[in-house]
Amino acid sequence: MKVVNLLAVVDKEKCRGCKTCERICPVLAIKMENRKAVIEDDRCRGCGNCEQRCPDYAITMVKREQPIAIKVDVSAVDYDKIEQLCRKAKFNPEQIVCYCTATRAEEVAAAILQGANSPEEVSFLTGVRTGCKVECIQPILRLLEAAGIKPEPPKGGWQWYGRTVTVWDIPEEVKNKYASRGFYFDEDIKILDRVADAPLQGRSDS
Ligand code: SF4
Ligand code: SF4
Repeated sequence: MKVVNLLAVVDKEKCRGCKTCERICPVLAIKMENRKAVIEDDRCRGCGNCEQRCPDYAITMVKREQPIAIKVDVSAVDYDKIEQLCRKAKFNPEQIVCYCTATRAEEVAAAILQGANSPEEVSFLTGVRTGCKVECIQPILRLLEAAGIKPEPPKGGWQWYGRTVTVWDIPEEVKNKYASRGFYFDEDIKILDRVADAPLQGRSDS
């Protein structure tokens, strides 16, 4: 969940149409029109990425007249399906996967089950990946993958580059090769499995 207080505004006099902002917006809120950046106000999640990256200082973050709360209602989705999806992706549903917005895996899973089929749509619906824009891309990709979705990074964009390897993906031969060098892959997996499989704390029916 995120309360969006800020909105990106373009100074058209300064914009040179380089497309950098369009390529890095995590929710695809920026389009080019007549070689100038145009921001879709309702879509902007106030992350400031475009302001930080614009080489011509043409974008400013301003306070929204009305803050908007971005959240997917987890209770509107079958919780068994949410739990199944999270556990399949090796997340505990109650685990926080985006620290900037304190969003739990269950909310990202709910967004996917409601039809979000790309990181950009997940970010748009939940607000995740609109803080640091770094840490939560991998949990999003893992949850999408668990749902059988293989999104492609936006064409021509620099929003994300693919899923990285997790401890569960490491082949036995690699584990064996490094076993004598102080790596404890199986022990790590056991600890992480305990987190992912732990009973739910916040639900009376669990
Ligand atoms: S990054 Fe700046 S100069 Fe480039 S298109 Fe966006 S607003 Fe214009
Ligand atoms: S979501 Fe972020 S990058 Fe996209 S327009 Fe808003 S402030 Fe800029």
